Amino acid sequence: MTPAPFYVVKCPDCSGEQTIFSRPVTPVNCSVCGATLATPTGGKAALRGELLRTASA
Ligand SMILES: [Zn+2]
Repeated sequence: MTPAPFYVVKCPDCSGEQTIFSRPVTPVNCSVCGATLATPTGGKAALRGELLRTASA
């Protein structure tokens, strides 16, 4: 089994759900309110929002 490549994250500011890449190379912002959802670490994202589930492509 390979790890799921995407995370479904709940925005801490607007509670919107957004699917993001699990290993981003740039910070990921909420598409609704612009809050930071995840920041790159060189590996798996450091999530600021709540991880709801993982998703495959
Ligand atoms: Zn938001």
